[in-house]
Amino acid sequence: MKTRAWATSAADQLLAPFEIDRREVGPLDVQIEILFSGICHSDIHQARGEWGNSRFPMVPGHEIVGRVTAVGARVTKLKVGELAGVGCMVDSCRTCAPCGQGDEQFCQAGPAFTYNSTEMDRKTPTYGGYSRQVVVTEHFTLKIPAGLALQGTAPLLCAGITTYSPLRQWNCKKGDRVGVVGLGGLGHMAVKLAAAMGAEVTMLSTSRSKEADAARLGATSFALTSEKSTFKTLAGRFDLLIDTVSAPHDLNSYLGLLRPYGAMAIVGVPPKLEMHPFSLINGNRRLSGSSIGGIRETQEMLEFCAQHQIVADVEVIPAEKINMAYERMLKNDVRYRFVIDAATI
Ligand code: NAP
Ligand code: ZN
Ligand code: ZN
Repeated sequence: MKTRAWATSAADQLLAPFEIDRREVGPLDVQIEILFSGICHSDIHQARGEWGNSRFPMVPGHEIVGRVTAVGARVTKLKVGELAGVGCMVDSCRTCAPCGQGDEQFCQAGPAFTYNSTEMDRKTPTYGGYSRQVVVTEHFTLKIPAGLALQGTAPLLCAGITTYSPLRQWNCKKGDRVGVVGLGGLGHMAVKLAAAMGAEVTMLSTSRSKEADAARLGATSFALTSEKSTFKTLAGRFDLLIDTVSAPHDLNSYLGLLRPYGAMAIVGVPPKLEMHPFSLINGNRRLSGSSIGGIRETQEMLEFCAQHQIVADVEVIPAEKINMAYERMLKNDVRYRFVIDAATI
């Protein structure tokens, strides 16, 4: 099935209209008419070749919400007419140990990512959510709980799960002091989710102009990381830091903000991060990373968001503004996720 999309043909090119072919619906497949597709900073990193693994043409997009238009004969999870979501993965081997534990993102064969990847045949390229239709095997679809605004739900499929998962891994709970570093797409979800888990959230940002927003999103305090004094005033304060920053920054200063045995989870992907061993040794501090989340945990996150009425704060744009959205994100000018209205693709 031919479908419209927006693609880039090389790391130094802009995105432009493009046509792709989606496979016919197989017995376990779900065909989804995409309604909204979020723009993640990972789309920019990959569209611009910053991770060294880019394949072109590339149709980015892994924050997909849409309506089911066809299902294969053996599909039980979704019915035609229901809402469905797709996140960062569209398949995995389903037999290895991580797949068995619900960590499909760590599939030993390598998952099929939603774009800039291949299907499990390791030949067929995958194309992402900046398109009108997608066909995905049912295991990798998500059920969208009733009562959530759809525009704001799309970003939950990456920004939501990527911040929910480390909060759960580090057992974020009532009264914990959580610092969120960087107030963009991931950062604003981290603030909302940690606040809903009962944590006392501090926003650590380079943008003074975002202070009022941080409070509205659920942060009880705000500190400017561009001011050196912040790192003295808040030294040893936090149980957990979630680092969402996409650009180089000094890890050592942030680690100093943790209490002894406190943990920092890195989710942002700057080109590199450097750390001195004493930043961890002093205070037995823990440094960890976190990669999106498995399908079971993503569904759990969606239910949590429905229960707490959490969606992303979005600016809905037509497809012709994708390139402008990329430029604005690079200037920290996003409040707090761009979402493409797929009808304009
Ligand atoms: P985003 O919306 O562009 O937000 C990034 C934020 O980082 C900015 O809003 C800004 O916040 C802060 N920032 C930017 N430059 C900075 C600098 N030089 N120093 C300090 N802070 C700076 O990006 P996003 O979509 O949230 O993605 C963030 C990162 O997470 C990206 O690298 C992305 O690839 C990565 N990611 C990882 C995963 C995973 O599985 N681990 C999943 C999705 C995305 P302030 O204005 O508040 O400072
Ligand atoms: Zn993403
Ligand atoms: Zn596997």
